[in-house]
Amino acid sequence: MKPVTRFAPSPTGKIHIGNVRTALFNWLFAKAGGGDFILRFDDTDLTRSKPEFVEAIERDLRWLGIGPDRVEFQSKRFDAYQAAVDTLIAAGRLYPAYETPDELDRRRKRQRTRGLPPVYDRAALKLTGEEKTELEAEGRKPHWRFLLDNHGGDPFQPRPTPVIWNDLCRGEQTIDLSAVSDPVLVREDGTYLYTLPSVVDDRDMSVTHVIRGEDHVTNTAVQLDLFKALGADAPVFAHHNLLTLPSGEGLSKRMGHLSIESLREESGLEPMTIAVAAVLIGTSEAVAPYASLSELETHFDLAKVSRAPAKFDPEDLSRLNGRVLQELTYADVAERLEAVGADGGEMLWNAIRGNLVRFADAKDWFDVVNGEVEAEVEAGDAPVIAAAVDALPAEPWDDATFKTLANAVKNLTGAKGKALFMPLRKAITGRASGPEMGPLLPLIGREKVISRLRASAQ
Ligand code: GLU
Repeated sequence: MKPVTRFAPSPTGKIHIGNVRTALFNWLFAKAGGGDFILRFDDTDLTRSKPEFVEAIERDLRWLGIGPDRVEFQSKRFDAYQAAVDTLIAAGRLYPAYETPDELDRRRKRQRTRGLPPVYDRAALKLTGEEKTELEAEGRKPHWRFLLDNHGGDPFQPRPTPVIWNDLCRGEQTIDLSAVSDPVLVREDGTYLYTLPSVVDDRDMSVTHVIRGEDHVTNTAVQLDLFKALGADAPVFAHHNLLTLPSGEGLSKRMGHLSIESLREESGLEPMTIAVAAVLIGTSEAVAPYASLSELETHFDLAKVSRAPAKFDPEDLSRLNGRVLQELTYADVAERLEAVGADGGEMLWNAIRGNLVRFADAKDWFDVVNGEVEAEVEAGDAPVIAAAVDALPAEPWDDATFKTLANAVKNLTGAKGKALFMPLRKAITGRASGPEMGPLLPLIGREKVISRLRASAQ
């Protein structure tokens, strides 16, 4: 059976690298099995969901190379959710409750002081029709709770009910449903909490594998019961560890600098840097600079996901970015180079790609090769530079020309090591560090090299 997975963000903010971990796990899993990936917007919260976030999420995923096979919106499926609500009510599995948050809070406190677990006691199930009418006459509106199947006929006598599933990341999982409160599925205002729409969608969209963060483990026990109550086959579940900062703090929408938009636009990172970090950190695979998602796919395996939090330091992303850039061929980047006015051909790209931290740095090196530079040499550098003017070979030049030049200057001046190479590098490129001089020299060309040397020798 071909896998069908989904990534289900709420469009209430921008997605960050932790969300991309979930998105890519789902995408890679579907693609590895020749299946489909659904982008499903969990936008039942009509006030907080915004079209601009839908667009931003689609843009971010596209930039990362994640193309959905289908896009779905929960806001267009309210009829399906209402039908499920009706089915559950008819089966006696969904009941109205009227407690206010304050009342529930007080009840939980009382349970705790008595040493009882703070599980909802199903008091609302005892309400008579008359009492309900009275409560509604007071202006109260019901919320609706799902009666968990954790009893043998008398809901006031819950009994241990292990829900067991084989989690593709965590192995066999067991959650006792008698320790869980009947979840609210529909709020007072008639809006749906995420639990029910998610199950109805997974059923109707034939989702075979639900891959999501481990913060959803308890939801899974409830949702497995819900699939059963709706007469549906449950998908396979996988709960991955969450990306956290080195301090252990989880990522959140508030951390704007870790949004994909900011990592792309402010930090100037490559999509593959984000993808590699998002997928491989917190697994037994080494974080290595793969150049494409298909290459990354061969290193992705849910069974390799660690149980410990996936700690990552945003500072490390720059270094990884440099390693990713180094993997990119001229064909991979030619269009982008042209777009930023830095296309100096394949030889230039090959000469500089090992020295870039960000793609935008390519423009600096393009300018070093093709434009003007200002050398900052010191007085003591003059003899080396003057000797280089005299020793400069005739063209044609190749990668070995710089070595020939340096040897000649060494013979003329006796300078060696840093004292030999640094003045030459600074005079010819205007920088104290950068790509190897060998490949750069023929790209800059004799005419420019000699005029730069002369300008520095004065
Ligand atoms: N909208 C939910 C979330 O972002 C989806 C969870 C799920 O994948 O089922 O947490």
